[in-house]
Amino acid sequence: MPHPEPLRVSVMYVRCQHAVMDMRTTMTEAELLIIGGGVAGASTAYHLAQDGHDVTLLERGEIASEASGVNAGAIGAMGWGNAPDLEAYLTMGSLEIFQSLQLDLGYDIAFRQSGCLHAIHTEAQYDYTRDRVQYLQAHGHNVALLTSREARNLEPALNPALLGCMYMPLRAQADPKHATRALAAAAARSGARIRTQCAVSSVQQRHDDTYLVETAYDTFVAGILIIAAGAWCAEIGRWLGLHIPITPVRGQMWATEPLPPRLFHTISSAESAMDWYHAPGNDHETPPHLTHQGGVRRTRHLYGRQTRDGEIIFGGDRQLAGYNTVPDPAGIEVNHTHAAEVLPVLTTLSIARTWAGLMPFSLDGAPLIGQIPQRRNLFIVSGLASSGFGRGPMAGKLLADALHTGQPHTVLVAADPARCVTTTA
Ligand SMILES: Cc1cc2nc3c(=O)[nH]c(=O)nc-3n(C[C@H](O)[C@H](O)[C@H](O)COP(=O)(O)OP(=O)(O)OC[C@H]3O[C@@H](n4cnc5c(N)ncnc54)[C@H](O)[C@@H]3O)c2cc1C
Repeated sequence: MPHPEPLRVSVMYVRCQHAVMDMRTTMTEAELLIIGGGVAGASTAYHLAQDGHDVTLLERGEIASEASGVNAGAIGAMGWGNAPDLEAYLTMGSLEIFQSLQLDLGYDIAFRQSGCLHAIHTEAQYDYTRDRVQYLQAHGHNVALLTSREARNLEPALNPALLGCMYMPLRAQADPKHATRALAAAAARSGARIRTQCAVSSVQQRHDDTYLVETAYDTFVAGILIIAAGAWCAEIGRWLGLHIPITPVRGQMWATEPLPPRLFHTISSAESAMDWYHAPGNDHETPPHLTHQGGVRRTRHLYGRQTRDGEIIFGGDRQLAGYNTVPDPAGIEVNHTHAAEVLPVLTTLSIARTWAGLMPFSLDGAPLIGQIPQRRNLFIVSGLASSGFGRGPMAGKLLADALHTGQPHTVLVAADPARCVTTTA
């Protein structure tokens, strides 16, 4: 990744010169301006503010009003491994940030290092999962293959007919809305300006390489612009004559009524993992690891947990549906059946509510974290796909560290936006 420009960009105060501009419009300057108040933007703001930078974050709704607030709250982590790569940094680094929010900074984010049980239904899934566990263990990761009996000692509600479980004890869970809002609150506490109900309607790069960012009531001039707009990054790219290949993928979930505690781990299933290993399914316009292709189901994916409020929540489908966030009842039904194959008690529990959100998928499945080389002083943190809640905190920190030091961490080579962002104008 090319080195970012040093942060000491001097930003000229720009007067409001347009006679047509609404009289309520004000002009504000910002050293660093972040578009998007999801987990990626909030974490970037927090870490930049902690490093002493002048940061403004603009969010068109409330903090965590999109994917970062509606996700399952599952935090993936399997250890640093013998040779920590981008994935190890994103997951293990994020785990430490979640722990710090709850244990050191005093935010109640309902964090719990519960561990995860990954259910094995068939002989083929067993062979695949056994090989995967052996590979991960050989590379220093903290995973184990449990018999069905061993797994039921940890999670009594599991179906005795399962052939076993992959156990990931480091995996955790937290309330996604509370955790994302805690990052934004910690950013504000460190001096960042967090502006909600503030939709960015246009962005232009000026001759001095600063950015003119318009909202309904304010205009901002930013020395450095950071795009953290989740599934809407492509729209912001278009305003700047760039093609940012991030596609919205609909994820959907359902919940039972609140119940007394009966589920202790996060739960997932080996079916999709094995299917995607054999055929990730991506092409020049389709991201990998989707449950549907051309409207037809390819596999069943499953993740879920019981929240602190008692709801049992599950989801899994990942479908291209544009910006449609209406849940598909047929997919919810398939997911409910899949979950009940893992936890038979769910056959007796009806669905109390459903919802959906949009995940930012890149076409190669890897995140985009770093400088967009076609424009000076332009950065992005996105493409966190289906695991951006668990990886977003460290994604924001890695970008903040790169901006602060001018030296991107070497693992960010695997997330370099230069590999896929192109110019359209
Ligand atoms: C149903 C579902 C379940 C999931 N489960 C999990 C899980 O269990 N674990 C996990 O790790 N991940 C999970 N994910 C994925 C995870 O939620 C996302 O990867 C992550 O939240 C993406 O964060 P983000 O900050 O990049 O995007 P977002 O959270 O979408 O934030 C982007 C923000 O930018 C704002 N924005 C966009 N355009 C503008 C504009 N023009 N002006 C101002 N603001 C703008 C939006 O309003 C939004 O708030 C799930 C996702 C879904 C939908």
